[in-house]
Amino acid sequence: MAFQTQIREALSDLEAAGLLRSPVRISGPQGPEVEIDGRRVLCFCSNNYLGLANHPALVAATEAGLHREGVGAASSRLITGTMDAHREAEVAYANFVRAPAAALFSSGYAANVGTVQALAGSGDVIFSDALNHASLIDGCRLSRAQVHVYSHRDVDHLESLLREHRPRSRRALIITDSLFSMDGVTAPLRGVAALAQSFDAGLMVDEAHALGVFGPDGRGLCAAQGVEPDVVVGTLGKSFGVAGAFTAASEEIVSLIRNRARSFVYSTAPPPLVARAAITALHLVREAGDARKTLLANAHKLRSELRMLGFEVPDGESQILPVLIGDNDRTMRLSAKLLARGVFVQGIRPPTVAEGTARLRLTPMATHRPEHIERAIDAFASIVRDQ
Ligand SMILES: *Cc1c(COP(=O)(O)O)cnc(C)c1O
Repeated sequence: MAFQTQIREALSDLEAAGLLRSPVRISGPQGPEVEIDGRRVLCFCSNNYLGLANHPALVAATEAGLHREGVGAASSRLITGTMDAHREAEVAYANFVRAPAAALFSSGYAANVGTVQALAGSGDVIFSDALNHASLIDGCRLSRAQVHVYSHRDVDHLESLLREHRPRSRRALIITDSLFSMDGVTAPLRGVAALAQSFDAGLMVDEAHALGVFGPDGRGLCAAQGVEPDVVVGTLGKSFGVAGAFTAASEEIVSLIRNRARSFVYSTAPPPLVARAAITALHLVREAGDARKTLLANAHKLRSELRMLGFEVPDGESQILPVLIGDNDRTMRLSAKLLARGVFVQGIRPPTVAEGTARLRLTPMATHRPEHIERAIDAFASIVRDQ
């Protein structure tokens, strides 16, 4: 069979399973409202939680960076060097999470894949939460370490796996998201950290969705819970409104990452203007205490109102609200109906979530005003009435 025909078949299989995705087209910037096909609609599916993606101070910082250092970083940092902007961003973010050092990556995906692969290898063992982000899973695969997946947030299961597999391994690394991206629930960080300590394992926490939202000055859930992991990964593309990511850890760990993480070594460094924007974003995030309160109040209001309308929204305290639907097609039909009513909420299907747990993933922003929240609730209510 011709290659093109095989590819066409793969696509039609996806379509038949209700799994074919084709992103909508957005015109203009990301914000609490976005323009889709010439229409202004409310956006309730972005990770731009604090509304910084189009913040004037970030636009200005990017512009200033552009005029100072140009556009491209020219090569991997191991080849053309670390630019001032990279180093300043690394120092700023390391300080933010109270770590001695940090390495900057082009994305959270690259940071996770590279960090896990640099820190564990053949002969080592990794313990990974069942609902960890895909980039962590890919890092585990790339590392060639032995991987044991523990049941989601199950400290007892983690302990029994550690008892069984830790003694025969060289290094051990426990990996967890702090705030799970598709369920909006938090990891049992204190329990996991205690196990890491007693089994002499490293602890890596991915704070992608928690930084900027939780903890003192938005320093994340580890800071909120007084947990000090060996490695923290944060993305700059969510609350910080920019792009890229950092891995923060001891000087030694970061040094090994700079030497061994393939996504760091074999990839062009992030544009310096992005690092400049990230530094300004950090100032904005530290000062965003009121925005954090508004964001979580918006989430609380949506969660309780949607439950009153009969939607299945699990318990949670975070800005991520899964509205569980189950069926893939039904989920996407609901998403389309909401969009027709002026509210953009993305449907999330397998393999991003488990089979049979398709959902609408609703994420408010700090910049949604009360009338925006009301309009979103009205759209859900009108769907219930039409059923
Ligand atoms: C989004 C996300 C990433 C990837 O970050 P990007 O900067 O978008 O590549 C990593 N981990 C988690 C938990 C995420 O939600």
